[in-house]
Amino acid sequence: MEPPRWAQRLMARMAHDYKVVAPYLHWKTRRSPSSSGYCTLHGGVIGVGAGSDKQDARLALLHEMCHNILLKLVPEYRGEHDARFYDFLWPIIRRYRFPMKVALVFEGSHHRRTVALTYRRGGGNLKC
Ligand SMILES: [Zn+2]
Repeated sequence: MEPPRWAQRLMARMAHDYKVVAPYLHWKTRRSPSSSGYCTLHGGVIGVGAGSDKQDARLALLHEMCHNILLKLVPEYRGEHDARFYDFLWPIIRRYRFPMKVALVFEGSHHRRTVALTYRRGGGNLKC
């Protein structure tokens, strides 16, 4: 299905800002409030399974675009949720004005140690 305009605009802006070719955005909707996402390793496609919570769908898109940009800019990166990923994601969260607290809760529920380490290293303060 056609991605919503806000998602197309955000993805195009990110691709422009980081000087990468925008991937194909595969958009689906889910019945749950929460969203899911994926990014192919060759970087040509990202997908978002958008739940009813638009903010969550926006975070899924930012997260997958973060993978996508890193895959295109860093030859040895293979899509891990490692320190390099989160060192790159936090500035993206700030740059595109997503609420940091929401991002920390979501990302921290999946990759707590790396999230805490990289967020602190960037000057943030996260208790865990
Ligand atoms: Zn991921």
